[in-house]
Amino acid sequence: MSVLVVGSVALDSVRTQSAAHDNLLGGSASYASMAASFFGPVRMVGIVGDDFPRAYMDLFASRGVDTAGLQRAKGKTFAWSGEYEANMNNRRTLSVALNVFETFRPDLPAAWRETEYVLLANIAPALQHHVLDQMRRPKFVVADTMDLWIETTRDDLVRLLGRVDMLILNDGEAKQLTGIDSLPRAAAALRSMGPRWLAIKKGEHGCLLFGEGEFFTVGAYPLEEVKDPTGCGDCFAGGLIGHLAASGTVDAATLRRAVVHGSVIASFNAESFSLKRLEGLSKDDVAARFDAFRRFSRFE
Ligand code: AMP
Repeated sequence: MSVLVVGSVALDSVRTQSAAHDNLLGGSASYASMAASFFGPVRMVGIVGDDFPRAYMDLFASRGVDTAGLQRAKGKTFAWSGEYEANMNNRRTLSVALNVFETFRPDLPAAWRETEYVLLANIAPALQHHVLDQMRRPKFVVADTMDLWIETTRDDLVRLLGRVDMLILNDGEAKQLTGIDSLPRAAAALRSMGPRWLAIKKGEHGCLLFGEGEFFTVGAYPLEEVKDPTGCGDCFAGGLIGHLAASGTVDAATLRRAVVHGSVIASFNAESFSLKRLEGLSKDDVAARFDAFRRFSRFE
């Protein structure tokens, strides 16, 4: 089953304490589409400028990501730059240039409107709405977001919650959106705003899954070295929906496995800059780390 992903495609500049790289392939749609591609076909919706390197298009093609919904406009690709503190958890955004995103309208190829699994990766909620408006009868819609949209376009975001099956955000964003410090209480409040399912990410401390009468918790993979965590949230969302689409069902057991698959891809992503680690990854690597997660959390 195909997955439709809409989000940003970016040229990123990333600084850590030990390295700096410019013009990296980034953006929520890039990370999420590459992550989902380990599980099945992906249809990517987004926009790039005329400066977007051919090699990055080739990378999408090499992983079976269909870019028929990726518009190429005159002008520059969306550009983001960020810097990590020594602990690799705290990140400061240094600059954002919307560029071709300023006039972006994510219009879908007609045949893509029937796609059953939809990931509204992190972009402005108005654009996420615009994509949903075009979908016929999706089976499962997942939305991701970030603190910027909670601050600047809260009403659009709240309205979106009534239209999606699952919301993904991190612990800080859950508190910011609800004003509630307790994560279980914040989760109940968020679910009452629309989504039946909710995943709250806690960075290096793993993730919580909430549903009707359902709770599941998974730790993060114990990485000794994090090179670049950029895009881990997007990879989590992509791996999650990729697994759901491949399974073809959305019951509680499948969602638990989906959350673990999201964590698997996110953990690989942190091992290198940009999409470098995912480029060389095999399905066997993914399966082996999935088994490791199972071993690490089993007890009698
Ligand atoms: P994450 O580390 O999961 O928060 O995702 C980082 C990615 O999000 C980077 O590759 C950026 O290009 C992209 N990004 C940063 N800010 C925005 C924004 N305002 N809208 C869409 N994508 C963004």
